[in-house]
Amino acid sequence: MNAMALQPGIRGELLANEPMARHCSWRAGGAAETYFIPADKDDLCLFLQHMPVQLPLYWVGLGSNLLVRDGGVKGVVIGALNRLNSLQFLGQGRVYAESGVTCAKLARFCQQKQLDGADFLAGIPGTVGGALAMNAGAFGSETWQFVESVEMVNRQGELTVREAASFDVGYRKVRLDNEEWFSAGVFRFPAKVGEQPSRIKPLLERRNSTQPIGMPSCGSVFKNPAGHYAAKLIEDCGLKGFCIGDACVSDKHANFIVNAGRANASDIEQLIEKVKHEVIKKYNIELQTEVRIIGEKS
Ligand SMILES: Cc1cc2nc3c(=O)[nH]c(=O)nc-3n(C[C@H](O)[C@H](O)[C@H](O)COP(=O)(O)OP(=O)(O)OC[C@H]3O[C@@H](n4cnc5c(N)ncnc54)[C@H](O)[C@@H]3O)c2cc1C
Repeated sequence: MNAMALQPGIRGELLANEPMARHCSWRAGGAAETYFIPADKDDLCLFLQHMPVQLPLYWVGLGSNLLVRDGGVKGVVIGALNRLNSLQFLGQGRVYAESGVTCAKLARFCQQKQLDGADFLAGIPGTVGGALAMNAGAFGSETWQFVESVEMVNRQGELTVREAASFDVGYRKVRLDNEEWFSAGVFRFPAKVGEQPSRIKPLLERRNSTQPIGMPSCGSVFKNPAGHYAAKLIEDCGLKGFCIGDACVSDKHANFIVNAGRANASDIEQLIEKVKHEVIKKYNIELQTEVRIIGEKS
């Protein structure tokens, strides 16, 4: 049963018992008790103002770094993909992007505006909100290198602007106070000097040749431990191709776990634990997951 009803004036969609497998790139996992798709940012704020305070609240972008356990998520999940979708050039290298804009769209927009540095975002299959939350990065660049300020929304639906310097940012992590989320970011990219060809195509080709693109996955499951590559450690444990159910360590890139068919979240989580166990046994190194795991076991 739906945990809440839409208040008058709210234009978004409220879905009960929404399968999160539809919203997660592993194509696995349980249902969200309630899933809200705002019409836009104002609508989201209005929704939050009316949301009962006791309900847990979670945010999903493209679900490309998220495992939802098979028992599902209690409370409300906000899905802002393509809804908080404003993308504006503010001049002098500055770009305003709402959190539901995809990273690929932001990268192409920057390319059109002759801005440098955003190409790495083209191959990250996430949203601006997810990239901010994860400090997503690739090919030597990270999201927060280019953040000037962010707009946050809290549980009461109030918006505030905070400078990038006020955040504690690290490798694939950003410390967030409880109960606030990114509604938008202002990025600053340097202007391209002279005729520089776009790096988007070669970077995408590099990904295609080294990653199992096209199979449901969440990208790299584990962070690289200091001084090591997680993929190399996993491969050297002989785990490439190892499966639990339909969850398999990719043959192409050992830090990827792919859904080879009908894997459920439990298969994937068990495989994550198995990989951690084998790497500790062989190298005494404890791998940390980059992927976020939420929800209830079934
Ligand atoms: C094929 C593939 C390749 C990948 N390659 C890379 C890569 O090169 N580099 C890299 O860093 N990652 C990579 N990833 C992982 C993933 O794409 C990134 O972590 C991405 O930034 C996640 O964005 P998302 O919108 O999908 O976030 P989600 O997976 O939806 O959410 C991830 C986390 O961010 C939180 N979140 C989402 N939106 C907000 C918001 N607006 N405010 C606050 N919190 C929010 C969620 O609650 C969750 O905890 C890859 C994934 C895949 C499938």
